[in-house]
Order: sequence, then C-alpha cells, then structure tokens
Amino acid sequence: MKFCPKCNSLMTPRRINGKSVLKCVKCGYEIDANAGGKKDVVTTKVQHAESEKILVIDEEVPERAQKVKGVVCPACKNDEAYFWILQTRSADEPATRFYKCTRCGKVWREYE
Ligand SMILES: [Zn+2]
Ligand SMILES: [Zn+2]
Repeated sequence: MKFCPKCNSLMTPRRINGKSVLKCVKCGYEIDANAGGKKDVVTTKVQHAESEKILVIDEEVPERAQKVKGVVCPACKNDEAYFWILQTRSADEPATRFYKCTRCGKVWREYE
C-alpha cells in the first residue's frame, strides 16, 4: 500500500493513458506506479583471463611434498630434498617436478 506524499491519504492504482499510476483519493496527486521499482541488476561475471592461470612459482613447499633422499642439491650438494609435482598451464603440457633442498632451501625444477 502506498500513501500520498502530500496528504498521506491512500493512493489507489489507476490506469491513465495506458500507464499504471497511483492516484491519491483525496488530493489527486499521481505517481508513476512503476517508479522506484527494482530494476534488474546487471551482474557481470568476472572471467579470469587465460594468462592468469599461468603459474607463479611459489617457493613454499606444499603440504603434499615428500622428502626424498638421493636427490643432489645443485647448490650445496645435500642429498635430501622436498619433492612435489606441479601440473603447469594445461594438461597436455608436461608436469614439472620441483625440489627444494632441505638444507639450503634452494628450489629447482625438472621437466618430465
Ligand atoms: Zn494526496
Ligand atoms: Zn642445498
């Protein structure tokens, strides 16, 4: 229910010249019945560009990384490293093996 902004009387819906209006029963004030209605909010879905998927190599060791022996660190010749595999870019590209030296923290990679 709408009330007249001028005299606070009840507004009644009418059709005038094909337009729906609300007309005050007392003072005759008219308002457009459709005014102030909720308009459809256009939502734009954010599409991530393909380039954003390109992996930024993070030198943090992921939780799934395994400690492996027998891998020689190119920096300090330590023979133990954390090892994990990352599938970079698309599935048809080879996965990359990452190693992180448990001693000096150097990260290096190998392509399959
Ligand atoms: Zn009125
Ligand atoms: Zn090392």
